[in-house]
Amino acid sequence: MNILQECETAKRIGISGHVRPDGDCVGACLALWQYLRKCLPDAEVKVFLEKPADIFRELAGYEEIDSTFPEEDVFDVYFALDCASDRLGGAEKYFQTARKKINIDHHISNNGCGDLNHIKPMVGSTCELIYDLIDKEQLDSKLAMAIYIGMIHDTGVFQYSNTTPETLQKAAHLISFGFDFPRLIEETFYQKTYIQTQIMGRALLESIRFMDGRCIVSVIDRKTMDFYQVDSKDLDGIVNQLRNIKGVDCAIFMYETGVLEYKVSMRSNEKIDVSKVASYFGGGGHMRAAGCTMKGTFHDCVNNLSLHIEGQFATQDTVQIVQEGSGKEC
Ligand code: 5GP
Ligand code: MN
Repeated sequence: MNILQECETAKRIGISGHVRPDGDCVGACLALWQYLRKCLPDAEVKVFLEKPADIFRELAGYEEIDSTFPEEDVFDVYFALDCASDRLGGAEKYFQTARKKINIDHHISNNGCGDLNHIKPMVGSTCELIYDLIDKEQLDSKLAMAIYIGMIHDTGVFQYSNTTPETLQKAAHLISFGFDFPRLIEETFYQKTYIQTQIMGRALLESIRFMDGRCIVSVIDRKTMDFYQVDSKDLDGIVNQLRNIKGVDCAIFMYETGVLEYKVSMRSNEKIDVSKVASYFGGGGHMRAAGCTMKGTFHDCVNNLSLHIEGQFATQDTVQIVQEGSGKEC
């Protein structure tokens, strides 16, 4: 796909990403916004996105993000980044009515919702896809920083298995533009406020292990969120911390979003495909990081998720027994 060719005659271009935008989503939207503004100065380029966390405020274009989703508006080209159209929230109406819809994403659960789809599940972040698609001559320090932020957030600072030699080569090129990357990593990825750390502590303390310690779950209810005066953005990172526990193959973190309704985040290692589990319940994501929204009591939700996780363990155990058996015969 050639982004500039696709936008050649466009006068109005819109860009959006998923609800509860994370680093990759914010980075990709603002990187594309900067690129299009630079290369197509006569076009109007707008970003509609739920208000991102304050930690992303240094990214160029942050102040231009429109989180009010005003009345319907028609765009010549509309980009859905890091998700399919069903997760665009208030921006879905702009995407659906656009003359040309373009979907760029790296989620394995996304089948493509645009007139043009660039979906690459093997690539670590949507920002890495944006890097691949742009003319590198146009890179500058601000554009490089936006792309880099998405890469670090979705690869866990180049730790997860979605980091490839190419990812690191691209990151090396990006830091050559001279932005303060150690501070960016520290302030947007690792640093937590005191309250965020307290609620994480509480979630870890109250976590429950099951399936012989291979799974772990923790939940934060509305009352506790109100007590600490936190919102969903303050709960980022809890599920990763649960996944770090020795012996855990699958971690589940849930928080209450309404009456008998929970947002579910899952993390796993190579033993469980959490994207499959989340997709079954109407969500999606990646093999090792996925999410969904579920209805019911906390116990109903955990029981339903467990059935699917246990099913995957059982299949693997059977495969292992068969392999061991055939080994003995040889
Ligand atoms: P997180 O647990 O950090 O919210 O999300 C993990 C991954 O799963 C992210 O890539 C995120 O975009 C995706 N994800 C989380 N919740 C949902 C959901 O409800 N639907 C879909 N399709 N993807 C989700
Ligand atoms: Mn992403």
